[in-house]
Parts: sequence; structure tokens; C-alpha cells
Amino acid sequence: MEYRNLGKSGLKVSEMSFGSWITFGNQIESNTSRELMVTAYEAGVNFFDNAEVYAEGRSEEVMGKILKELGWRRDSYILSSKAYFGIWGLKDSKPTQKGNTRKHLTEACHQALKRLQVEYLDLFFCHRPDKETPIEETVRTMNTLIEQGKIFYWGTSEWSAQEIMEAHMVAKELGLIGPTMEQPQYNMLWREKVEAEYSQIYKTVGLGTTVWSPLASGILTGKYNEGIPEDARLNREELSWLKDRSVREENLKKVKQLGSLAKELGTSLPQMALAWCLKNPHVSTVILGASKVYQLEENLKADGVKALLTEEVMTRIESILDNKPEMPPF
Ligand code: NDP
Repeated sequence: MEYRNLGKSGLKVSEMSFGSWITFGNQIESNTSRELMVTAYEAGVNFFDNAEVYAEGRSEEVMGKILKELGWRRDSYILSSKAYFGIWGLKDSKPTQKGNTRKHLTEACHQALKRLQVEYLDLFFCHRPDKETPIEETVRTMNTLIEQGKIFYWGTSEWSAQEIMEAHMVAKELGLIGPTMEQPQYNMLWREKVEAEYSQIYKTVGLGTTVWSPLASGILTGKYNEGIPEDARLNREELSWLKDRSVREENLKKVKQLGSLAKELGTSLPQMALAWCLKNPHVSTVILGASKVYQLEENLKADGVKALLTEEVMTRIESILDNKPEMPPF
């Protein structure tokens, strides 16, 4: 396992990490969750990602219980939470139970610490931008949580480059700490933010990235090529919006061609798709998701596939994808 600096910070994060969205406290049993965490940790994964809204807080409870049982040294891993949506989601949480306000971020941090049964979070993210809260309030709150030792680094998720820069400008003006990392979606089918929109701010503020859905929720494994498998994520009722957005003919056509290329290279499609994300130097860590141990075992081997992705292979992938984002004109 390679370890990369989280942006300009000195924090060393494993290039592959592990997250619990949809799975923990929801799709899978606690025993499987535990086995997945052990598999990840033993392979060198040192970052575990979570959020208040995952399974209405149960995802953090399950992870916290497992961490307690396993008794790994707290200084050997990085743990995160994310707040904004509220535990019950934007629609069902009360007005004070969501957003990037001082009240919600502080309470969400305290609640996450309790559910995860830890004294501090290494990373704490604003899960989305909040157009109704002044950025200064958010920056001051995150800085206070850092000074109180409740979190070590703060970051954003799916913020625009402009919003991230605004947070940095406010932080600089006030002598406070700005966001270290952003958590954007990044995979072969979804490239705009990571490759184009943030291209300048890697240089200017040294932004780190913890990228999510590297397999586009499983589309990039090829498992949806012939229909929707019964036990797969996109068969879940509550994710029909994601199925409609992702299981599309134009995507599946590309996935089939990518599958043939992976076969030719002697690897699997998920490993090739993950290695493709890892090749991007602006990615600090790729957050893996898995509902079964064999999936995680397979995905964790992606590191060894990076070497197969030569310039020539990357060019072939590019021509299959045909979705290279246009770079900003500067
Ligand atoms: P992926 O895109 O990698 O999807 C993971 C899912 O794909 C698995 O749960 C499994 O689903 C399927 N899968 C994975 N590997 C294989 C394999 N080898 N063979 C067959 N199927 C496979 O990642 P996630 O979407 O889970 O995202 C990873 C993490 O990123 C999350 O856990 C979370 O921590 C974070 N995240 C953050 C978001 C944000 O807004 N900040 C949003 C979303 C995620 P199944 O078995 O059910 O088919």
C-alpha cells in the first residue's frame, strides 16, 4: 500500500481507504462489516470514512462498536465523519439539525464522537455547501473544533472550486485554518471536478482529495451489463434515482469495451478502474466501498495494476471513455 500526503498537509493517508455508505447499518450484517474493516486494515488501509447521515447514524454506531472491539491503536488509523444533511436527511431533519451552521456542525461533531466512541475525528467534512450559512461562520466553527482537539483537519464535499477558495480567503483574513481536503465523486464516468474544476487549487491552496464512488456504485465492475443483479446496490428501492442516472446504454457500452481491455491486460475491470483513479496524482486517497469481503479483496489489489496502465493503455482508455473534461483556459 502506498501512502500519500493529504494535500499540502503532512498527514499520510493510504492511497486506498474504506467507506461505509449504504453498507454499514443497512445493507450488510455487523459481522461482515467487521470482516471488511479487518481485511482493509490488514492490507494497509489507514482511513475509514463515515457520515452522520449514513443509515441515520447507525453506520457510525456499527463502525464505532467494531473499532472498540478490535482495539486497534487510535494513532494507527484515520477516522472521518461528515455533517450537513442531518441524521435523517435534509427533508426529515428539523431546521436546526442540518446545514453548516455553528450549531449543527458542533452538535454533529459531538454526536459523531459518541456514536464512533472516539475522543476525536481526524477528518471532519461539510458534506455539501450550505448557501444559507455565511462561510465565515463555518470556517470559525471548524477552526474552533480543531482548537478544541475534537477534529484535526476539516474539509468539504462536493463544493465548487469557488466555494473552497472563498473558505480559504476568509480563513487567511482571520488567521484561521482553511479546508485541507475535498471529497468529490471521481471515476471513469465522472471526471469534471477532480480533473478540470479543481485544477488550479491543487497548486494554490494544496487541496487534498478523498474521492468517492470510484466504481460508480458498481457500474464499473461490469455487474450491470446484463441487467440488475438482485443483491446489488442499484436494485435497492431508495436508490432508483441513482440507477436511472447510471445504468444507461451509453455507460454500459463503454463498460463493455473497458472490460475487454482489462481482460487483454490480464486484470479485472474493477481493478483497472480503481488503478485508473490511483494514477491521478491529485487523488490523495480512493475510498473503496464493498458489501462482500471478496469484492474488497479484489479491489485492494488495484495497486499492482497501476504499472499496467502505460501511456499507450491510458490513451486507449481515453478513446473508449471519450469524456475528457475541457480544461479551464488558463
Ligand atoms: P464504489 O463506487 O466503489 O461502489 C461500491 C459498491 O460497488 C459496493 O458496495 C458493491 O456494491 C459494488 N462493488 C464493489 N467492488 C465490487 C467488485 N469487485 N465486484 C462486484 N461489485 C463490487 O464506492 P461507493 O459508492 O461505495 O463509495 C465509497 C465510499 O465513498 C462510501 O462508502 C463513502 O464513504 C464515500 N462516499 C461519499 C459521498 C459523499 O457525498 N461525500 C457519496 C458516496 C460515497 P453491491 O455489492 O451492492 O453491488
